[in-house]
Amino acid sequence: MTIAARPWLDEIQAYRPGTRSASADGSMASNESPLGASPELGASIARALATLHRYPDPLADELRGELAALHGVHPDQILVGNGSDELIFLLSTTFLAQGGHAVCADPAYQIDRIGALSVNATLTQVPLRDWKHDLAAMARVEADIAYLVNPHNPTGTTRSRAEIEAYVDACPAPLVVVDEAYVDFAHDPEALTAIPLVAGGRVAVLRTFSKIHGLAGLRVGYLVADRAVIAALRKVRAPFSVGSLAQAAALNALADTAHRQSVREHTLRLRAELVALLAGHGLHAIDSEANFVLVPVPAEDALVAGLRAHGVSVRPGSSLGAPGTVRISVPTHAGLGLLQTALHRVLPANHLETSEPR
Ligand SMILES: *Cc1c(COP(=O)(O)O)cnc(C)c1O
Repeated sequence: MTIAARPWLDEIQAYRPGTRSASADGSMASNESPLGASPELGASIARALATLHRYPDPLADELRGELAALHGVHPDQILVGNGSDELIFLLSTTFLAQGGHAVCADPAYQIDRIGALSVNATLTQVPLRDWKHDLAAMARVEADIAYLVNPHNPTGTTRSRAEIEAYVDACPAPLVVVDEAYVDFAHDPEALTAIPLVAGGRVAVLRTFSKIHGLAGLRVGYLVADRAVIAALRKVRAPFSVGSLAQAAALNALADTAHRQSVREHTLRLRAELVALLAGHGLHAIDSEANFVLVPVPAEDALVAGLRAHGVSVRPGSSLGAPGTVRISVPTHAGLGLLQTALHRVLPANHLETSEPR
């Protein structure tokens, strides 16, 4: 007889990652940085190689110190994780296990869902309104944790800091987690971020090195929260979850503000070009402040397969809880050219006349 997984796990479908196309330029399914990591990355990794026989610094103290200074908080208000995904699972174990309740949007960031369901928490998903978080409806849910993603994935839409502040005041959840994986691509990141709300004690902010810093392969993210929240998470975390190379790379990335700025400028420029290219084919992207756009399409599967056949991979919306859409990451210049060619071949000639925005 084989061992059975706990029965509540039946509700979970294993995460389906984006598929890669034959070329890096054609891969637009996973919101990775089109410009890669800082050009100084190799040197900092090479230096860190000398210490690989030792365990990493368990709390990434140097990185924590830099992040605390950057955000104007105490280092004890920061927890570095093996990607922000690890921190989402830690939040689940710590605050949702055995009868907890989480509220998030529908569609949600898939890891928020999986994390809550994995510890047998109740999960309430509140449908988006005009593709944005419906904060009024979410505030009526008696949850232990409320997850907001701002800008949201998979839509790229935002709620202002004032709207989030009003939500925190109105909602019964003792902890509101604001996932800011894409905040660097917003029109005004400083005005948008919820980090100033952390001081009130009920808001925690998630950030990642996977997007603007271009380090998705190394797995580093962090949480900024009240000290009591961080102290609770530290009880259950794996002590050495963030490797030495990852810590060195993250420190290097933080220092390279010029690279960050060029990724931001590239992304904003190419996002506008991507939106215009799609509009030229009768496809109307939802207004996005992230490094991707979500596009309602008449025939999701056919479009995904057609683009794939022409060397471009995009994310099928149905794998993200948003059927009838595709999510396209902002590509390189060459990638945009590939997409342009692929769209010409794939969409029927009469598409311009017949398609309507949904
Ligand atoms: C990409 C992404 C992350 C990053 O996760 P990591 O584990 O840090 O790579 C976090 N949250 C959202 C909503 C994302 O889309």
